[in-house]
Amino acid sequence: MTTEPQQFASDNYAGACPEALDAMLAANAGSAVAYGDDGWTQRASDSFRTLFETDAEVFFVFNGTAANSLALASLCQSYHSVICSSAAHVETDECGAPEFFSNGSKLLLAPSADGKLSPEAIRTLAGSRSDIHFPKPRVVTITQPTETGQVYSIAEVRAISAVCRELGLKLHMDGARFAHACAALGCTPAAITWEAGVDVLCFGGTKNGLMIGEAVIFFDRALAEDFDYRCKQAGQLASKMRFLSAPWIGLIESGAWLRNAEHGNACAERLAARVADLPAVRLLFPVQANAVFLIAPDAVLDDLRARGWRFYTFIGGGARFMFAWDADPARVDQLAADIRAACEVRALA
Ligand SMILES: *Cc1c(COP(=O)(O)O)cnc(C)c1O
Repeated sequence: MTTEPQQFASDNYAGACPEALDAMLAANAGSAVAYGDDGWTQRASDSFRTLFETDAEVFFVFNGTAANSLALASLCQSYHSVICSSAAHVETDECGAPEFFSNGSKLLLAPSADGKLSPEAIRTLAGSRSDIHFPKPRVVTITQPTETGQVYSIAEVRAISAVCRELGLKLHMDGARFAHACAALGCTPAAITWEAGVDVLCFGGTKNGLMIGEAVIFFDRALAEDFDYRCKQAGQLASKMRFLSAPWIGLIESGAWLRNAEHGNACAERLAARVADLPAVRLLFPVQANAVFLIAPDAVLDDLRARGWRFYTFIGGGARFMFAWDADPARVDQLAADIRAACEVRALA
């Protein structure tokens, strides 16, 4: 098989990082107890507890849709509702799974251009109705960083959790790219989660350098009651659990989780800096994590496609480029050069 030139359409195009792969191979040597009662899974859970400096409950599932949906389902009854941004992955990209796994808990959408939720928007939605005919707000979910690559500051998360406490709402964080937020903020994982009032975090492994897998971390252990049954019922209990958990050991204990994210963020900054002087191109959102969204004339985007580049334009109409742990800086520079060339061709036409 020939290897294709690297693309930045999605951070899911990347392979698994060596630290994860090595841990996978180590876990493959010999046998281990099934369904999560093994030493690898214990050690992976412990490494999360060490990383987060707290005695959290940790579960491993296959993907982010399952992590989010099952976490949200565990926070509410079917007659409750979940407040999220209109751009949230749980709303736009999970095929109704949060509603399905919660037996119908309704998502209440706050309109948001950049994907962020604000305390005011939460207060407005939560207070919009209080009668028996409307699903009772019970949970708020925020994405850190957002689908548009925006990072909530610690103060912003704290302000949101304060409103949640006041209104009796639980706070869930979709951290599909949680490591990128930590890298961007330069803070501890604790500071942006439980210390700031987050009850449950879905920590994305796939976009952080694993081959597969996400961790659901309950900082409030009481909320994790029967979550193992929920996972099993949803088809998310891996029989050879060590293959889902061991790669996390490699990622976390080596520090690769943070290095990988720092690299992705740096590559996003690199691309943004290299196209900053082009008048025909502008950033749709500030670059804060590992995403760059570019607004450019259709002719420029068509030219880029003709040069072999793949990218999506489904968020805000901008061309999205995502940088994973393995992004090759030379290839980032090539993309920047091709964007420049595409602008020049258009200027001459
Ligand atoms: C990628 C992603 C997920 C998880 O998606 P899956 O394809 O289900 O693994 C969840 N939330 C956000 C914001 C994402 O970008």
